[in-house]
Amino acid sequence: MIIRSIDAIIRMLDADYIENGAIEDKIQGVCIDSRKVVEGNLYIPIHGVKNNGHAYVAQAIANGAKAVLWERKEPNPPKEVVVILVEDTTKALQDLAKAYRHQLNMKVVGITGSNGKTSTKDILASLLQEHYITQKTLGNYNNEIGVPLTLLSLSENVEAAVIEMGMENLGELSFLTHMVEPDIAIISNVGTAHLENLKTMENIAKAKLEIVEGLKEHGLFIYNGDQEILQNAVTHAQIPGHIRIRTFGVKPQNDYVISHITQKREGVSFCLNDDVCPYHVDMIGKHQAMNATAAWIAAKALGLSVEEIREGYQNIEKTGLRNELVDFGKCLILNDSYKSNPQSALAALDTMEEFDVPYKIAVLGDMLELGDTSDMIHYTLGKDLAKYHLNEVLTIGDMARYITQGAFNNLTGVHIEHFTDKEALICYLRPYEHKDCMLLVKGSRGMKLDEVVDALVKKE
Ligand code: ATP
Ligand code: MG
Repeated sequence: MIIRSIDAIIRMLDADYIENGAIEDKIQGVCIDSRKVVEGNLYIPIHGVKNNGHAYVAQAIANGAKAVLWERKEPNPPKEVVVILVEDTTKALQDLAKAYRHQLNMKVVGITGSNGKTSTKDILASLLQEHYITQKTLGNYNNEIGVPLTLLSLSENVEAAVIEMGMENLGELSFLTHMVEPDIAIISNVGTAHLENLKTMENIAKAKLEIVEGLKEHGLFIYNGDQEILQNAVTHAQIPGHIRIRTFGVKPQNDYVISHITQKREGVSFCLNDDVCPYHVDMIGKHQAMNATAAWIAAKALGLSVEEIREGYQNIEKTGLRNELVDFGKCLILNDSYKSNPQSALAALDTMEEFDVPYKIAVLGDMLELGDTSDMIHYTLGKDLAKYHLNEVLTIGDMARYITQGAFNNLTGVHIEHFTDKEALICYLRPYEHKDCMLLVKGSRGMKLDEVVDALVKKE
């Protein structure tokens, strides 16, 4: 984490201050939540929509804050610690992160994409761990607050950092990537997430491509070459000639071609560029072969050996709720209730397809934030279910009704049922504990379908 004298922080922000204490003293780390402040932190009160952090400064100081940032317009700055005066604390947090990044001497990889940012980040950090002192974004801290907090959490002895970057609108990634200044930028893929804001897939691809703007000179840009929409965006973008570009995917035109993807309970295996020896990754989901390959290219560019990569693939520190296999008596649950959109739902169905289980049930909830054509997108998913060997399709949520409709019109011999109530769904599923079956649970975070899984596997 950042360790600097208060004086240095003042200079990094080019700010005025109220000298309530010694500016030679050092702060250790920054914190925006007064409840989580620990001894020595710089407290940064954020002016949020619901809460104004300035109101909690007394708690931050009681918890050990050594100094605070303070917006000039806010009354009653504290008297116990040095107060650094700024116009806008969110902007100051971002400025400080940017200034700190400039002082850091480490390799930085930035990752964006509609799906798979956190997975790719977890895989890559685990690979780099084999060779470097590595730090990564914690959890899902990937926005205009999370990214600067991640940068400020980096320790100076770190040799490689893996940073997840999210976006909901055009311009946001451009802003973040200029803060992160990655040596390597990865776009895992482009999908319909945030279609509501960005309206078209072309805009989504363009918005993701902004990640390249902050790449360091002679940096490396890695992207999913299977997607025409992304490929077109790259072709039309003016990417500077000094940037090296590598693509990955299952299509033969890619620089790194993935083949022979197989999924077992222990994890996913795949081959790369006809290498006879498959790679084994300790993760669930056929799509993880894509994420693992993006990580492979970055790790190799940073000097890792193939042996180190193989080793790293077996020791992945994962972030929860994404593709977890959970035992429910004789039934196996694929819990993928963290988020859902058509691409990740199909990816989860592809994964279930790989399992040799006699009876398969898909529980599908609403996919949120899909904009005006959400009903059609849900209907299409219902239709696409015909490609899979499913015995039952159970849906829940207002939009998921359209999945049911799509399924009704296209599937035969499958039990299809819509539920309006989670309790009823849970009651329906309970007897499956005694059946040799597999149950996929997938829905947007807002649907909280993990509650269904928790209720089913709860130990009395
Ligand atoms: P968020 O936008 O919430 O940060 P993310 O981009 O970090 O999401 P993950 O958390 O890695 O993505 O995965 C989210 C969901 O997307 C999971 O359901 C996962 O199974 C699915 N997923 C991950 N990688 C891919 C991929 N390459 N293609 C399709 N789906 C994927
Ligand atoms: Mg994420």
